[in-house]
Amino acid sequence: MTARKLADRFGRVATDLRVSLTDRCNLRCSYCMPAEGLDWLPSEQVLTDDEVVRLVRVGVELLGIREVRFTGGEPLVRRGLVDIVGRTHALGVETSLTTNALGLSRAARALAGAGLDRINVSLDTVRSDTFHQITRRDRFQDVIAGLEAARDAGLGPIKINAVLLRGVNDDQAPELLRWAIAEGYELRFIEQMPLDAQHGWSRDGMVTAEEIFERLEREFVLTPAAEPRGSAPAELFRVDGGPATVGVIASVTRPFCGDCDRVRLTADGQVRNCLFAREESDLRAALRGGATDEELAERWVVAMAGKRAGHGIDDPTFLQPDRPMSAIGG
Ligand code: SAM
Ligand code: SF4
Repeated sequence: MTARKLADRFGRVATDLRVSLTDRCNLRCSYCMPAEGLDWLPSEQVLTDDEVVRLVRVGVELLGIREVRFTGGEPLVRRGLVDIVGRTHALGVETSLTTNALGLSRAARALAGAGLDRINVSLDTVRSDTFHQITRRDRFQDVIAGLEAARDAGLGPIKINAVLLRGVNDDQAPELLRWAIAEGYELRFIEQMPLDAQHGWSRDGMVTAEEIFERLEREFVLTPAAEPRGSAPAELFRVDGGPATVGVIASVTRPFCGDCDRVRLTADGQVRNCLFAREESDLRAALRGGATDEELAERWVVAMAGKRAGHGIDDPTFLQPDRPMSAIGG
């Protein structure tokens, strides 16, 4: 078998695979899902555990994938998660998880045992009432318990992803950072992107990186961290001279598309070359139709070649993708 690369015509090479394991979720974050949830994918359309692992293996062995991150929807609701993590780890790649941490208190030890290398937990506030308001569920304490279990299981350093919403938690950025530093978690703020199913995002409504800095700098001294950013989306800053850091992922106002090294696989087996892609490539149909590993790899290479230069959110012609974030895999 020949080793190929997932290269596009702008010279970028994807080595970081994001795999969505389900489009379902047990929270209803207002920037992601409507209160009533969504029409979930029919189960026969969702890749089986073996199918997921086969596609991951094709990515790793034939296409140069070096990191695999499992996400969703909420990946912890997928029954086969620990097994999938273990089989991915056995391929010799860095294996990580993005989760809302509900149920992590039960799963952390098994995930660590299966070889999970890193974990990102999404948490936008350390106030129980604000958590309830944003996620529409009263589960704040479960997230805290999940975080503690992950730390106890040796899954650190744990990263926390936070989205700020105007008039909801945008005044809580310093409080969140103080808490994260005290607990030893690495906090990163993510600008809200137009990927919610309800199409409620607006450029004027979103909290920009500039505003996040302005809020934080009222209470902390931020200095750019020394290490080069590379393809990492977060701009890192030392807090009050360090060693603690805070990251800001300015996907909208300071896009990093030129350095992107990602590719995504949805729970129903579609390759997406960008979060904002409007086209997908159906690996599930090929796989279930009897394609060889080589044929799957070839399809994947073609899908990546068409990756656009940037997400184009600021273009007048920008169209939000049909799939919301929860069905793409954030
Ligand atoms: N359920 C898991 C979680 O929340 O971590 C994994 C999936 S979730 C879609 C992945 C990440 O996307 C989370 O950190 C979440 O905050 C972020 N996210 C969801 N909708 C977003 C949006 N419209 N803009 C920016 N980030 C968003
Ligand atoms: Fe669920 Fe994650 Fe979306 Fe929140 S951000 S609704 S936890 S998928």
